[in-house]
Amino acid sequence: MKFDPSRAIADYLVFGEFGDVNPSITDSSTFTFLDSIKMQELFEHEIEGCFLYSRHWNPINKYLSGALARLEDTESAQVTASGMGAINCVVMQLCNAGDEIISSHTIYGGTYALFKNFLSKFGIKVNFINGMTVENVRKKITPKTKVIYCETISNPLLEVADIPALSKLAKENNIKLVIDNTFSPMIVTPQRLGADIVIHSMTKFINGTSDCVAGCICSTKEFIDSINDINSGSSMLLGAVLDSFRSASIMKNLHSLHIRMQKHGLNAMYLAKQFEKLGLRTYYPGLDSHPQHNLLTSFMNEGFGYGGIVAIDVGDEKKSHKLMEMMQNEKVGYLAVSLGYFKTLFSSPSHSTSSEIPEEEQIEMGLSKGLVRFSFGLDNDIEESYRRVKYCLERL
Ligand code: PLP
Repeated sequence: MKFDPSRAIADYLVFGEFGDVNPSITDSSTFTFLDSIKMQELFEHEIEGCFLYSRHWNPINKYLSGALARLEDTESAQVTASGMGAINCVVMQLCNAGDEIISSHTIYGGTYALFKNFLSKFGIKVNFINGMTVENVRKKITPKTKVIYCETISNPLLEVADIPALSKLAKENNIKLVIDNTFSPMIVTPQRLGADIVIHSMTKFINGTSDCVAGCICSTKEFIDSINDINSGSSMLLGAVLDSFRSASIMKNLHSLHIRMQKHGLNAMYLAKQFEKLGLRTYYPGLDSHPQHNLLTSFMNEGFGYGGIVAIDVGDEKKSHKLMEMMQNEKVGYLAVSLGYFKTLFSSPSHSTSSEIPEEEQIEMGLSKGLVRFSFGLDNDIEESYRRVKYCLERL
């Protein structure tokens, strides 16, 4: 059955204290009780409509989490202070010392560094794979494997994960499939394809205004309750809680996400086609030439495009630096990391967001020093934007 996440969010009605169309912002870290037995009960189990302390839950974080559960068609969700906060909460909840994770090699550099350098402190081993095919993943499964981890559309090489096939393999082996859907909100709904837990860096498209960091975890009620357990929950105990003022502003931006994704996608598709015509090596899952174009088309939601991220290879490091500086001067956008902003952002992953990955491993995974990653903005006149990019490319 077709799923329209924008409808699911639009149908989610929550009101403020006086019927305000935007829910009231919770400006409190703690909550009073008229009856001390109720407080005792709340320490023992959740009570609908009752709040204890804002690191646990507060009304506006609950509302935003409810909207995110609608977006990802999951039973429940939890907002976090950053995308990394979300990833940490999930892996810390699922893994104990001695457990293993199988992860795609082509993931955001910060996630790679967490997996490679940090989790070993807690005795958690991560096996990285180039090419998340079922065959490759199957070979790495051991009785200790607890998590299979990848991004729907990977950062920065834009490989598309075969979520239905990975889910089948994960279920057969009693492993949780965790998907980072940061690049493709609205476009792909991983839970509907069999993912157990879906993560976002809301810093990117979901918020869309590059004015805060935030994250979320979408999953079953059982899992979200487990991370909020007062005695053993990673969200409660690691404390990566989202500030309520930010929850309120993200909630408002979420309601324009579907329109923004459509426009990001139209602009990115136009430019990717132009880059390909120029003979540049172009990475964009919307192009017929992309190796997983048909796979993504087979499971994406209709009407939201193929995403706003495009990467091109301009040959070498020197050229990538020159291109980005020229494009900033020509006001194509900003030379800045991150993505999902209303203006175009560009960076060279090999020296920035993927620099945590050692050079020999970058070569192994096919990440060139000449790669420039664009997050195309909401430009109204994309032909003019292209003229400016072309002007810069011709002067490299
Ligand atoms: N996941 C992906 C795919 C990312 O690109 C990023 C950040 O760039 C993160 C997770 C981490 O998110 P945050 O910066 O909000 O902690």
